[in-house]
Amino acid sequence: MAFFRKSIFRTECDECNRPFAVNTGGVCERCRRILCSTHLHGSIIRRIAIGFGASMVCVRCRAGESPESAR
Ligand SMILES: [Zn+2]
Ligand SMILES: [Zn+2]
Repeated sequence: MAFFRKSIFRTECDECNRPFAVNTGGVCERCRRILCSTHLHGSIIRRIAIGFGASMVCVRCRAGESPESAR
């Protein structure tokens, strides 16, 4: 049965415009952009931290250069 519609779980990163599997990235809590794991987490260490309850904030927001904070 072909109920696994993988395309639904794929989207494009707002930063690099590359398609990625949603479960590897996510939405930044601050700028609300959909980002791949590279641009959301930046490193595997951060990804683990989120697994332990750290807030999902992207690399740019953490660096203080998000489009939102520039307002
Ligand atoms: Zn990206
Ligand atoms: Zn962000």
